[in-house]
Amino acid sequence: MSKYFLTTAIDYSNGDPHLGQAMEKIGADCIARYRRLRGDDVHFLMGMDEHSQSVVQAAEDNGVDPQVWVDRMAERFADFWARLHCSHDDWIRTTEPRHARSVQALLSRIQEHNPDDLFLGEYEGLYCIGCEEFKQDSQIVDGHCGEHPTLELKETKEANHFFRLSRYGDRLLALITSGEFSVEPAIRRNEVLRLIESGLQDISISRSRFPWGIPFPGDPDHTVYVWFDALINYLSGTGFPDPGYDKLWPADLHIIGKGISRFHCVIWPAMLMAAEMPLPKQVWAHGYVQWEGTKMSKTAGTGVSLGSAIERHGPDPLRYFLMREIGFESDGNFTWDRFDERYKADLADGLGNLASRVLAMLGKYRDGRVSDAPADTTLDASGSEVMARYQALMDDLDLRGGAEAAWSLVSAGNLFVAQTAPWALAKAGQDAELDSALTSLARCLYRLAVLVSPFMPEKSDELWSALGQEGTAAAARWQDLAKPPVIGAQTTKGAALFPKTNTA
Ligand SMILES: [Zn+2]
Repeated sequence: MSKYFLTTAIDYSNGDPHLGQAMEKIGADCIARYRRLRGDDVHFLMGMDEHSQSVVQAAEDNGVDPQVWVDRMAERFADFWARLHCSHDDWIRTTEPRHARSVQALLSRIQEHNPDDLFLGEYEGLYCIGCEEFKQDSQIVDGHCGEHPTLELKETKEANHFFRLSRYGDRLLALITSGEFSVEPAIRRNEVLRLIESGLQDISISRSRFPWGIPFPGDPDHTVYVWFDALINYLSGTGFPDPGYDKLWPADLHIIGKGISRFHCVIWPAMLMAAEMPLPKQVWAHGYVQWEGTKMSKTAGTGVSLGSAIERHGPDPLRYFLMREIGFESDGNFTWDRFDERYKADLADGLGNLASRVLAMLGKYRDGRVSDAPADTTLDASGSEVMARYQALMDDLDLRGGAEAAWSLVSAGNLFVAQTAPWALAKAGQDAELDSALTSLARCLYRLAVLVSPFMPEKSDELWSALGQEGTAAAARWQDLAKPPVIGAQTTKGAALFPKTNTA
C-alpha cells in the first residue's frame, strides 16, 4: 500500500463554516475516499486555525475568553463536517500542545541550519485582519483589501522577527517549473510563478503585544505570526519532531483555496527549505463558491447558510452538487434553482430511478435473486470504459469529470432498461434474455455504488445494501469492478434513494 497524506486548509474560528469552506472539505474527502478505494494507505488531516486576531475579536464580541470561544467553534465545525460525512483521520487545532511544540521545533531547525534566515527588523504597512497579513499596493483595491472589501485596513508599525523569504525565489521557481513541487491547476501555478518573478520580500513572522499565540522561541515579548504558526499544522499532524514523523511527511497533497496560494506555494515551501526538510509534493488551489457573483465568506456577510444548504436535500446531494456543478477548479455559482434541477435530473430521475426500477424488476420477476446468466456485453463494455475514464480523471483530481463519468453509466443503464424492456421479455416468457438483462443491470448498479461512494458515501451504502452486498461500498476491492460479484445476491427494494420533494 502506498501512503497518501492529504490536508485541507484549517479554518479560522470566527464564525460558522460557510459553503466555500464546505466545498473544500468535501472535495478533499472525495479524494481521500477515492484513494482508499484504490488501496492507498490514506491519512487525511483537517483542523482549526485558532490564533488569529479575528478570533480574539469574535471572542470579545461574544463576551468569552478566547480559549472558551475556540473550543466552542471547534465543536461547531466538527459537527458540520460530521454531518457532511467528512472522513478525516486526524483533527488538529493550533491551540494544542502538540502543535506549539512542532512550531517551536521548526523554528529551531531553521535557526540551526540557516541562522541568517531569521532576523530582527521593523515593519510598517497596511494590515488586513481578514487575511491576517500586511497588504502590498498591488493587493489593495480602492483603499481596501481585494479579498475583504468591507473591512478597514489597519496602519501598523512594529519591531518584529523576520524570515528571509527573498533568498528562496530562484529555487522555488525552479522547483515549481520542473514540477518537483507541483502547483495545480495551471492557472494558479502561473499566478504563483508571476508572483515569485516579481520579487519576494522578507516577511515578518512575529507579533509583539499580541499574547494570543505561540510564544516566539527566545523572545517572550513576541508571539509567532498566525500564518507562520498555521502552516506548520501540516507537520504537527505527522507527530513532528518526534521520530517517525517522516512516515507521513512529506504531504502528498495540500488542498487550499486560491486566495491563500501565496502562503502555501511560496512561504511554506521556503520555510521548509530553510529548515532543510522535504517539500509537499503537490498543492491544489480550488476556486470559490459564489453567490450572485460574489465570493461566499463570513466577513463579506453574503450568501446562503451551510445549514440551509444541507437541509435542502440532505448532505449527500449537497456533496454531489458542489463537486458536479461548482467543480474544484474555477469559481462557480451556487443557486437554489440549479441545485434543485440537479437533484431532480441527476439524482431522483437519474441514479435513483435506475436503482428503483432494476431492484423492483429483480423483486417482481426473480424474488430479488441475481442469476448467473451471462451479462450483456454492451452495458458491460460501457461499465469498463466508464471505470477507466473515471480512474484517469480522479487521479488528476478532476472531481467534476469523475462525477460526469459515473453519471454517463447512469445514462447507459437507463438507456439499457428502455431498450431491453425487461417487462416485455417477462411477458413473452423469454427467460434467458430476461435473466441476462437483470444480471447486467445488477452489475451496473454494483459499479455505480462504488464509483459514487467518494461523492455520496451514505447513498452509496444504501444502494450497496439493497444490492445484497456485505459491509460498505467503500470496502469493495477496486479490481472487483472489472467483474462485479453479484451472482446469487439477494437484493431488496428499499425506500427511494432520492425521494421527490416539493422543491425538486
Ligand atoms: Zn483581506
